Amino acid sequence: MTIAEFQRMIRDKYYATDSARGAPGTYLWFVEEVGELAHAIANRERGKLDQANLEEEFADVIAWLATLANICDVDLEKAIADKYIKDGGPAGYKA
Ligand SMILES: [Mg+2]
Repeated sequence: MTIAEFQRMIRDKYYATDSARGAPGTYLWFVEEVGELAHAIANRERGKLDQANLEEEFADVIAWLATLANICDVDLEKAIADKYIKDGGPAGYKA
C-alpha cells in the first residue's frame, strides 16, 4: 500500500465526519494519539515493552495525520516527496 492509497482509504472511510469536526478538533485527536505513542515509547524505555500496543499507536498517529491532511487538502505523498526526496531532500540532520 502506498502513502497515497492509505490517505485515500482514510478519506473514503472517515472524511464526512472528519471534515464536519474540522481541523482544530481533529488536531486534538491527533495530539492525543501522539501522547499515546509517547506513552508506549516510554513503557519501552522502562523495560515494559508492549510491541503490539507500540505498533498500534504508530498506526493511530499516521491515520490521524492522514485525516488532518485530508481536511487541509494536503497530498501527503506529494508533500513527503517534495521535502524528502526531490533534489536529495534536506541537507543536514538534527543531532
Ligand atoms: Mg491510540
